[in-house]
Amino acid sequence: MGRRAAIVAAHPDDETLGLGGCMHLLGVHAIIHLTDGAPRNMRDAVENGFPTRESYAAARRREFLDCLRAGGIEPDNTVSLGLTDQEAALHMTQLANELAELVSRFKIDLLFTHPYEGGHPDHDTGAFAVRAACQLLPDRMQPQVVEFTSYHDRNGEMETGIFLPNGGSHEITIRLGPEARERKERMLACYRTQQKVLRNFTTAEERFRPAPAYNFTAPPHAGRLFYERFAAITPERWLKLARCAWYELGLE
Ligand SMILES: [Zn+2]
Repeated sequence: MGRRAAIVAAHPDDETLGLGGCMHLLGVHAIIHLTDGAPRNMRDAVENGFPTRESYAAARRREFLDCLRAGGIEPDNTVSLGLTDQEAALHMTQLANELAELVSRFKIDLLFTHPYEGGHPDHDTGAFAVRAACQLLPDRMQPQVVEFTSYHDRNGEMETGIFLPNGGSHEITIRLGPEARERKERMLACYRTQQKVLRNFTTAEERFRPAPAYNFTAPPHAGRLFYERFAAITPERWLKLARCAWYELGLE
């Protein structure tokens, strides 16, 4: 029997950066975004010529739909949970409940998401909310969770396309052939507002691993997290919100 796969990504473009080269092979049933990709601070919006947060968010949604078309990807469902970029951590309990409901409704048994790595607070929230959602479901309904790569800090630089060694989970590397690579580049080109950031990512390969059993009561790594450069939320506050959400959800 074929698997029912879903992708949970924090922002439009994360799904393609993580698995744009392999997505067409998975028959993805649902792509779920936690946020609309538009932060409350208007820097990115203004830089791209959008006068309001909402118009920037709408542009990011259009880019995502263009990207799917460019890749010939036709998921049965595309869901945006509609949160503001950089604020997903403020809604961890709600996200866990919503994801559990979607996994159950769509009968998802294979779920791809971000690693916990301090690259972006919304990515870490994705890793957390997916784990919490799984815990909320009965054993027989829990999907297998597989991570794709995003980015994190390594010695003060942005490192992309590689996992932190945390968890010691076995990973696989898929080298993309010319056709897959060309498809991924065509998809990424649709994210017109994100081109400056996307330059930091390779399209040569994609890595995957089973989600490790993270300890969400400690930072993902020692030292300064990548998101401390730009995010309004601090790692201390993120950890506090995660602790509260875990408690509110009544999880072990
Ligand atoms: Zn992202």
